[in-house]
Amino acid sequence: MTRKKLPGLWAEVGVDGKVCVLMVGEGEREERLPPIDPAEDLIAASELDYTAYRREIQRLYDEHPLFEERLDIPESDLEDLAAEALMLPSMLQEIDSLSFFELGNLLLQALRMRDDGSASFLLHAGQRLLLALEVPIRTQIRLRNIMEMTFDGMERATQQERFEKLRGVYPPIAQICDPGPWMEEAMPVTFRIESVYKLRLLELMLYFRQEKKRIARCDYCWNYFIPRTRAETRYCDRVFEGQSCKKRGANLKRKKGPEQDGALRLFKQLRDRMYARMLRYGDAPESQRKKLIPMTALQYGEWEENARQARREYMAGKIKAEEFLRRIDTTHELVRYDPVKQELPPEKSVWQERVAGDPDFDPVRKYPSSMMVLDLRDTADDPHWQFLSQEELIRKDQEGHQSLRDEYGKRLDKPPAEEKE
Ligand SMILES: [Zn+2]
Repeated sequence: MTRKKLPGLWAEVGVDGKVCVLMVGEGEREERLPPIDPAEDLIAASELDYTAYRREIQRLYDEHPLFEERLDIPESDLEDLAAEALMLPSMLQEIDSLSFFELGNLLLQALRMRDDGSASFLLHAGQRLLLALEVPIRTQIRLRNIMEMTFDGMERATQQERFEKLRGVYPPIAQICDPGPWMEEAMPVTFRIESVYKLRLLELMLYFRQEKKRIARCDYCWNYFIPRTRAETRYCDRVFEGQSCKKRGANLKRKKGPEQDGALRLFKQLRDRMYARMLRYGDAPESQRKKLIPMTALQYGEWEENARQARREYMAGKIKAEEFLRRIDTTHELVRYDPVKQELPPEKSVWQERVAGDPDFDPVRKYPSSMMVLDLRDTADDPHWQFLSQEELIRKDQEGHQSLRDEYGKRLDKPPAEEKE
C-alpha cells in the first residue's frame, strides 16, 4: 500500500498483537518505532519519569512575569513565555519521543490562537501553552489511574474480570478499550490515532485480547510487572539498593508486626481518600468546586509520587512508621502518628463522595453486576477470592474501605472460587 499518510501518529497492529507506531510529520517525513508488546509498553509508559519536566512547567506558572497580577501585560511577556515553553519538550525527546512529537503539534495549535493583544487574552494564551505542555503528564496520570483500577489486587483474575473491573469504574474508558468487537481477521491493520492517550487505550484493548501476558502490581514497590509463570506472583524482579522486591517481600513477611500493618493500612486509607477527592473535584462543575477540598489530577499525582517514595523508604527500613505517616499526611488528616490501632477520622464514605461528585451518578452503570474481589491485607496468610454481587459492592462503598475486612474478619464465609498457593 502506498496510500499517503496524513501527518500525526499512526499505529500498525500486527497479527501477533504487537503495535508499531509511526510518527508522520509534514512533508511525508516518517519515523517508525520498533514493534512493541502492548503490556510491556503500558508498564513502561506508566513509569516514565517526568519529575524534572514537571518542575520546569511549575516554575513558569510560579515565576514567569506573564502570570503576575497586574492591569497591563506587555505582549513581549507572552513572546518570552512562548520561547521558554517551546524549549521544554526537548527535555522529553530522549525518554519519550512520542510525547515529544505530540507536543510539537499541540504547541503549534496553542500558538496559532494568539491575536487581539488584550491583557486577558495574553494571559489565557499563556495558560493554554502551559496546559498543552502538561498533556504528557495528564496522559500518564490517567494511565496510572486506569492501571490502578484494573490491576491492583487483581493478580489472580482473568482478563475478562480485569476488563469488567475497569468497566465498573470508568465505563466510557472501558467502552473504548473493549476487546469484544475486534475480529481476528481485522489484523494486520493500520490507522491514525489522535493522541498518545488514545494509543494507550488501543494498547489496553490489545492487552485484554490476549491471555499470555498478565499485568500485576508488585506488593513491595507497587510498580507493575508481567509475571513469568502462571503461579501467583506478588513481587517483581526489580532491584532497589541491591535487594530485589522478592527478597525484601520474603523478609518482610517474617518480621512484620502490628505496627507495620497499621502504617500500611493508614497509608491505603489516606490514598483512597485523596483519590476520592480527586474524582469528586474533577467531576464537579466549576460553580460547585468552591465547596470542595481542591484535588486536581496533578495534585493527586504529586501526592502519590511523594507517598510512594515514603512508602518505599519505610518498607526498606530507612524511616520509622511515625516519619512515614508524617510524610504522607500532607493534608493533616491524622490526629497522631502512632500507627497502632489508629483509624483515619471519618470523611464521607466513598459512596457519598461519588454521589456528591456527580449529579448523574447511576449505581447501575457505575457498578458491575458482580465482581471477584481478593482479600490481600497483609495479615492474611492465604488470600482468598471472594465473589461480590452488585448490591454487596455498593454496600462496601457505602461503608468505606475497611468494611470488607471488618465484616468478614480474618476468615471469609464463602468458599473461595479459585485458590492457588
Ligand atoms: Zn517490585
